[in-house]
Amino acid sequence: MPVSDAQMVAAWEHVLGLSKLEAGQSVTILTGPMTHEQTLRTALVATEKMGAVVNRLDMLPKNGEKALSRDLLAYLGDTPLTGNAPALAMLKSSDMVLDLMTLLFSNEQVEILESGTKILLAVEPPEILLRMLPQASDKELVENATAILTSAKTMRVTSKAGTDVTFGIGDFPVTKEWGFVDEPGRWDHWPSGFCATFANEGSSNGTIVIDTGDILLPQKCYVNGPIRLTVKNGFITEIAGGVDAALLKEYMESFDDPEVYAISHIGWGTQTKAHWSTLGFYDREQTIGMDARAFAGNFLFSTGPNNEAGGSRTSACHIDIPMRNCTVKVGDRTVVEEGKVVLHKLS
Ligand code: FE
Repeated sequence: MPVSDAQMVAAWEHVLGLSKLEAGQSVTILTGPMTHEQTLRTALVATEKMGAVVNRLDMLPKNGEKALSRDLLAYLGDTPLTGNAPALAMLKSSDMVLDLMTLLFSNEQVEILESGTKILLAVEPPEILLRMLPQASDKELVENATAILTSAKTMRVTSKAGTDVTFGIGDFPVTKEWGFVDEPGRWDHWPSGFCATFANEGSSNGTIVIDTGDILLPQKCYVNGPIRLTVKNGFITEIAGGVDAALLKEYMESFDDPEVYAISHIGWGTQTKAHWSTLGFYDREQTIGMDARAFAGNFLFSTGPNNEAGGSRTSACHIDIPMRNCTVKVGDRTVVEEGKVVLHKLS
């Protein structure tokens, strides 16, 4: 359902306020062929109203002829910034980048962040941005969860559907997403609300059963029958099940890259404003599925690259898989019990 420009301008001002944008700071709005017109229009108004020095950088598309879908996260690898020194210089010299294009999993993104520039990704449709407008309390929830994650060396996930898998953690930093960028060099995604880390190389072992109703992204579909993954020494070695398993297998094989089978980030959703059921209401091109990634109590694991966290894998295939009804144990603490977040108050 549409929302008004006035609502969106107010939402931008709210998020940019949480992101500590000050008058006189420079903001570059990064756009591409699929940038949402209303999101861009209202970002320009809000940043100007707040007294920022505002520029727009519009990039050409990349990888469209290689990807099997139109989803912006379906094919990683080179980005419009690869080998593009002028664009990179512009972004690195900005205080804040509003990414309305989708720049993810790239060396260029890491380089921009290391320069101290903040990056806020916002590509979901305006009504989803408004429904999941971040609040300061979202940060508190994620910080509590990540404090547990940071202190542990293992994560174990089990479910009645048959999942029993263990991951070694601690070699890579923790990813904290609460929807705004309140520190220099911080990347975040409006909307979000989850915490994650990357499994230590070669450490993941066990069985993951993607159950009926769990979600595959970028396929953006609910699974209709269980998919059983065997995980050995950090890699998926077997994909078994019915037609959903066959589709997943064929898609992964199409990349002709052994690294697509590696376990990537692992974590859980904390966002109560996100919903498991939302994906069913949207056409695939209207959303990248942040409700699915962030809904409270999911176990979200993924496959493929880990270069975003400083690892060496740059696989173009990245599949995010939010699962329901799992129990997630981090070290000796249960953080999700059969799909429900267990709240820990840390001080
Ligand atoms: Fe992911």
